[in-house]
Amino acid sequence: MFCLPESRGTYALLLELIPGTEITVGRLGTFLFPAGYYVYIGSAFGGGGLAARLARHHRRYKKLFWHIDYLLAHARIVDITTDASGKRLECAWARMMLGMPGVRIVARRLGASDCKCPSHLLFLGSTPCPYWDALNIMLEGCPVRDTGQGREWPNPSGTMGEQNNELDCR
Ligand SMILES: [Zn+2]
Repeated sequence: MFCLPESRGTYALLLELIPGTEITVGRLGTFLFPAGYYVYIGSAFGGGGLAARLARHHRRYKKLFWHIDYLLAHARIVDITTDASGKRLECAWARMMLGMPGVRIVARRLGASDCKCPSHLLFLGSTPCPYWDALNIMLEGCPVRDTGQGREWPNPSGTMGEQNNELDCR
């Protein structure tokens, strides 16, 4: 039985937005988000760790607080991957993904208020597979990654829901 770690760490959400839409992201501004796939990279180093943060991302009704909350009000979470090594990897992941041809930024500084990254939200276009696979392949090489199967879903009570992996890159 696999459980999302209560330990702290870094996570990436694979999101699908259909249709494209204009969204006001708090005080950051209003952006036109094209339809397609996005990766959001965040970290959970507070109490409750990754499990609490990811459960919060799944809740539909909540006070909008983080930049990503505004997008999640419109987008669907397709997949999740995490690293619970305790290292702060979010900026490295964001830079790695930004270096891939075809990855674009549509909302500058989203999720990146406290660092120098152009954004922690990356637009992948109409197919997520080469990018999402590349991120996961990189993580498999990390010996302290203890999630491996970040494809199961937390429900708001914090226990694991049913497997809900709709992503098929084969
Ligand atoms: Zn950053």
